[in-house]
Amino acid sequence: MKSSRSSCTFCALIADRQIRAESEAAVAFPDAYPVTSDHTLIVPKRHVRSVFELSESEQADLWNLVARVRGDLATNNPNRDFTVGVNDGEAAGQTVDHAHVHVIPRRAGDVPDPRGGIRWVLPEKADYWSGSEDAR
Ligand code: AMP
Ligand code: ZN
Repeated sequence: MKSSRSSCTFCALIADRQIRAESEAAVAFPDAYPVTSDHTLIVPKRHVRSVFELSESEQADLWNLVARVRGDLATNNPNRDFTVGVNDGEAAGQTVDHAHVHVIPRRAGDVPDPRGGIRWVLPEKADYWSGSEDAR
């Protein structure tokens, strides 16, 4: 996953202004390999690996843009719900080392059983609701 600012795909997209929305410290652009339509990435302008390397004000600005993008997608499509998430590090699934927040619109029926959502990153543990005493 290692890359530097000069070889970073997301830094290149930001430099080329290939963005859909912008705040002082962050931008939003469509995910190039969306898992649902309108899957959007919120990306700090500054090249850091983790969103938690940003200053408090940069983090606040980034999360404000997450809320704005989510709000716009919800307004345009009232029946949508959302999976919002960060793969924070390689062991957690991060593949692009410029920090980013995924905003993934969800629709009823897009998977047979959506219960648990992000718990499915560890499939053996995801289902706690089907009766195991250990899971409670
Ligand atoms: P992650 O695995 O959390 O690091 O997510 C990286 C995301 O970046 C994936 O959802 C990819 O589809 C997306 N991605 C990879 N390359 C590009 C690109 N050139 N433009 C936009 N999104 C990209
Ligand atoms: Zn970068």
